Amino acid sequence: MASKRVAEGSADIGAQYFTARNPKFLTFLKEHAGVDSFQEWTAKFGFQGPGQTWQSFPGEPRYVGVPRMTAITRGLSEKVSLQAQVRIARLNRVGAQWQLLCTDGVDRGVFDQVIITAPPAQAEELLLESGLTSLADHVKGPVGEILPCWAVAAHFNEAPFTEFEAMRPDSKALYWVANNSSKPGRNDSGQWWVLHATPEWTAAHVDASSDDVSEQLLAEFAAMPGHSGAAADQAIAHRWLYARSVSEGLPGYLFDAKAGVGIAGDWLAGGRVEGAWDSASRLAEAMLAG
Ligand SMILES: Cc1cc2nc3c(=O)[nH]c(=O)nc-3n(C[C@H](O)[C@H](O)[C@H](O)COP(=O)(O)OP(=O)(O)OC[C@H]3O[C@@H](n4cnc5c(N)ncnc54)[C@H](O)[C@@H]3O)c2cc1C
Repeated sequence: MASKRVAEGSADIGAQYFTARNPKFLTFLKEHAGVDSFQEWTAKFGFQGPGQTWQSFPGEPRYVGVPRMTAITRGLSEKVSLQAQVRIARLNRVGAQWQLLCTDGVDRGVFDQVIITAPPAQAEELLLESGLTSLADHVKGPVGEILPCWAVAAHFNEAPFTEFEAMRPDSKALYWVANNSSKPGRNDSGQWWVLHATPEWTAAHVDASSDDVSEQLLAEFAAMPGHSGAAADQAIAHRWLYARSVSEGLPGYLFDAKAGVGIAGDWLAGGRVEGAWDSASRLAEAMLAG
């Protein structure tokens, strides 16, 4: 749920919106992130149907952080003791507890139980380093199944599209494009659009430079039917190596009660922001119960 600072504001370069199909998720957000930290995004969504025509997406409430996606994690983290910019390298058994050691060797404290919410590749590395091989075996399968995504945020003085604010093009290169400035609370001058590449295009351009990626994806964007011809005057690119989960039939969470180590994440519960919350909630219930 990342936002990147851009001139005069920010653009959401990761998750674009989230659903709350489980009403308990909304209750949780209101209570813990704060009622002002998110709002419904009532944009017009379109997808490219047969014959290149644009059609409306079926609607369901879609929510975004306000004034940027990170407002939610900011709200949530105010209630916990958080140490940011720390990479845990290893869990070290000390009696019946776990000591957390970070990459610079600093001891980050000793805890009764540990929850790992890193993507599968990083979780696997951490588990193997910590001698938790049986949990690592469960994580191995999903490691290769997280798809990458190049993201570009581009600024336009004139609107490139007017009919829809978010679109799923029929394109080999572009998976999604959206007018970030149409989200509530943004107040940008001009419009910031976010473009996401398809996993296939990203994999084929994984080592390309940010400038090349911006140029190529903006050219694909300009070629979409209905584009006004408006040109971008600024663009930034970001590469996500672990963006979308394709695993199905996963258990929701993993918990080794004897070791006191649990694993949660969107990739264990169908992907997406709501999946991450669902996974964490179910793990917390299991840990509290037992
Ligand atoms: C481009 C893109 C578009 C998306 N679009 C949508 C969307 O429109 N709607 C939607 O619902 N979802 C979307 N998603 C998915 C959504 O972002 C994820 O489902 C959600 O962020 C997963 O949350 P998480 O907490 O499980 O994992 P993450 O958000 O991946 O967080 C894992 C965290 O663990 C940290 N970490 C890793 N290793 C360590 C370590 N050793 N020590 C300490 N910290 C570590 C990482 O730095 C990271 O901050 C999108 C994702 C991407 C990338």
